[in-house]
Amino acid sequence: MTLSFSGIAVSSGIAIGEALTLRRDTIDVSPRELDKKETTAEVRRLKRALKTARTQLLSVRDNIPKDAPADVSAFIETHILMLDDTLFIGRPVEIIKSERINAEAALQRQKEELSRAFDAMEDRYLATRIDDVNHVIDSVMQALGTSEEQGSDSATGIGGDHWSGRIVVSDDLTPADTIAMQHHGVAGFVTESGGPLSHTAILARSLGIPAIVGVHGARRYIKAGEILAVDGRSGIVLAEATDSTLADFREAQKRQRQETRELKKLIDTDTVTADGVAISLMANIDIEEDLKSLKRVNADGVGLYRTEFLYLNRDTTPDEAEHLRVYQRVLRALKGAPLTIRTVDLGADKMVPSHIASNKGSDRNPALGRRGIRLCLSEPEELFLPQLRAIFRASSKGPIRILLPMLTSADEARQCMTLIDQVRTQLREDGVDFDESVPVGGMIEVPAAAIVAEHLAAELDFLSIGTNDLIQYTLAIDRVDDQVNYLYDPLNPAVLSLIHNSIDAGRKASVPVSLCGEMAGDVRYVRLLLGLGLTELSMPPNLLLQVKEILISSRRSKLKRQAMAFLSAATREERERLLDRINS
Ligand code: PEP
Ligand code: MG
Repeated sequence: MTLSFSGIAVSSGIAIGEALTLRRDTIDVSPRELDKKETTAEVRRLKRALKTARTQLLSVRDNIPKDAPADVSAFIETHILMLDDTLFIGRPVEIIKSERINAEAALQRQKEELSRAFDAMEDRYLATRIDDVNHVIDSVMQALGTSEEQGSDSATGIGGDHWSGRIVVSDDLTPADTIAMQHHGVAGFVTESGGPLSHTAILARSLGIPAIVGVHGARRYIKAGEILAVDGRSGIVLAEATDSTLADFREAQKRQRQETRELKKLIDTDTVTADGVAISLMANIDIEEDLKSLKRVNADGVGLYRTEFLYLNRDTTPDEAEHLRVYQRVLRALKGAPLTIRTVDLGADKMVPSHIASNKGSDRNPALGRRGIRLCLSEPEELFLPQLRAIFRASSKGPIRILLPMLTSADEARQCMTLIDQVRTQLREDGVDFDESVPVGGMIEVPAAAIVAEHLAAELDFLSIGTNDLIQYTLAIDRVDDQVNYLYDPLNPAVLSLIHNSIDAGRKASVPVSLCGEMAGDVRYVRLLLGLGLTELSMPPNLLLQVKEILISSRRSKLKRQAMAFLSAATREERERLLDRINS
């Protein structure tokens, strides 16, 4: 019987493939009493799981992509060493034997013991290494589950063909999982939680992997190995569909490929509206891999390089030299096209890695805590200055712009400018060759910044509207929480007034304003944004040609009045009606 599920469509495209269910959050660690015979078997089961976890880690190490930061393998090596440590692996065996309890409960006991020991450590750095310990113990737990539940697996155990062509069904995925899975050819994702603006969803879009999030209970009903059909446009997932339905999905897949081929014809067409307004279409990149898609669509440059991905999947902070190497590589690939580097925006769902000294781990509400520029300004030596120095040093090799995330006031912008001036002075003194006039811009992604956009425009060289956070903070909805996703409304007049105010402030100060949130790549809003006055949009590269197709057939002069009407549209119905009209 066909089962149908619906969720939030976050990355379009159709995928058909076998389900691969991940069960990372459902391991039962409660103690189960064992008799003597069972105890011996349980020790054997644990040893098998330890071996599986080790083999998985070796496979991860051997499959690390060539362009991954060097420290990724060091990080995996540490975990392998732990699994080779006789004291480490001996303790749960001892617990099983002495307390006659199951392996999961023994591992949990070991985890708690170690956690207490690490907590008591005075050395902060050493104390943070508990993350590695937990990671290794969790991978053994998952391996225990794997041997029992055919088809279950863990994201950390990624290796080889196992993932290729399959559809991963999981509770949630981290951005790091998504990158690793893409390397192994996963065909699509279905997750039970998450929102369209989570960084995992953004990555799936930019990597071109069909994905649906917020499919409640997916893993209760979908069995490993079942054939799934996923429609990343409508948010529909079908399990065990009939042959004729699968044929329809394949047909739709073919049509999409045909549409993509048609769009490719626009690659060399200039982006100029039907009434002659030139538009700059830039790409958002998260990892260097995205540069390939950027070339495929011939973007005008990079409007947003999210550098926080340089800090994930590793246990050290990238230093100036590493930043410099990466930026130089990206500039070389861009061959003279501009590169907008956003200084690191760690925090909230782009979790601050525990090895970063400034991670005090006490943010009660990470989205409102020391995120983005706040973190950088609180730890300039560790985070901000090395990155700024590297950006300036790379600037002698190609056109670079600096973009500051999460600004809320002109004071913050000034604080950043003081540090930037300090970096310039130092580099001059050191005789380093760099571009003195690297433009410095600010993200408008907090309502306060949009309201005082005029003050920011007075301090900065350009502004870039980040609608993902602007919508989150204006409408008070967590961007990764599928339960409040129904309130996510880019057309809410509160959001549009803030966008309009920012564009207006830029126009009055003759400061360019672009938009780099996901809204820029959503075909439903392209004409509205054009009507509001935007002439630079930055988006995941895969969406760029669709946006171009709409722009070149639109007349901005006709859209202005229609766009302004949205600002006073009080109800959702009215806004939907206006949207239909502007797009007709
Ligand atoms: C945004 O908030 O719109 C944005 C582009 O930044 P990020 O999605 O990385 O938070
Ligand atoms: Mg943001």
